[in-house]
Formats: sequence, structure tokens, C-alpha cells
Amino acid sequence: MSVPKVRKSDAEWRRVLSRDVYAVLRKQATERPFSGKYHNNHATGLYRCAGCDLPLFSSKTKFDSGTGWPSFWEPIRPEHVLTSTDLSYGMIRTEVRCASCEGHLGHVFNDGPRPTGLRYCINSLALRFEAGRTDLAALAVLGLIAALTR
Ligand SMILES: [Zn+2]
Repeated sequence: MSVPKVRKSDAEWRRVLSRDVYAVLRKQATERPFSGKYHNNHATGLYRCAGCDLPLFSSKTKFDSGTGWPSFWEPIRPEHVLTSTDLSYGMIRTEVRCASCEGHLGHVFNDGPRPTGLRYCINSLALRFEAGRTDLAALAVLGLIAALTR
């Protein structure tokens, strides 16, 4: 299933997002480590995009990386995130963005745990946690409803 695109002008994003969330999602800012809401969150649930609500990560793939940012070894579905090469700050990194609104989420590194060996290092500000459900079947139905009502 492809992900419906959410498009807004820069002015619209500025209006609907808080200043801090806007800086991360739309201007690729990085929150200070250990400053966010979710690096130490161990509750069961879903992490949605703070810009468009697309489910991005599940608590089932979250792990304690010790970096001070929420870390996951896999997105909830591969097609829910986009990756591209980021050459800023003199480093070669892989940027992770939301597949729907294309908001900046963080970066993915190759030093994660099994089974993927990946570490999705994500800003808390780019996420909105929803406690409870983590199953994809319910998500598929909700995604369909969202697509129909958009
Ligand atoms: Zn999004």
C-alpha cells in the first residue's frame, strides 16, 4: 500500500506546528540529546509523525541506545519512511524522513542491534506517541479511513 502524501506550504507548516517541531521537521534541526520526551519512554504503543500522524515506529522495535534520542531498529513499515544521503556538517549520514509529509525525523546508522543491525536515531520532537495499540492490521484500516476522509 502506498502512503498518501500530505503537502502544505512552508507558511502552513509554520502555522500548524510548534516552533520546535517546525525546526526539526521542516528545517532539519536536531534536538539536544536527553532533552526530548521519548528517549526514555518504555510504554507500549505507536510513534506517529508529529507533522501528519503517519505511524512510523512501534514500541516493539525501540531500544535503549544510550544516545539520548529515541532509537528503533526498524520502521513500522518500510514504505512509511524515506531515506537519502545527508552531507551536512562534514559527515556522510543517511537522513530519515516521513514518507507522507516528508518531514525530517532523524538519521539511520549501521550500528544497531539485531535483527536488522540498524539504528534509527529519531528526534522526540518529530514524533507523537500514542499508548496502546501496536498491531498493523488495525493500522491498515485506520490508514484507509484517513485516506478516504482526507
Ligand atoms: Zn509526516
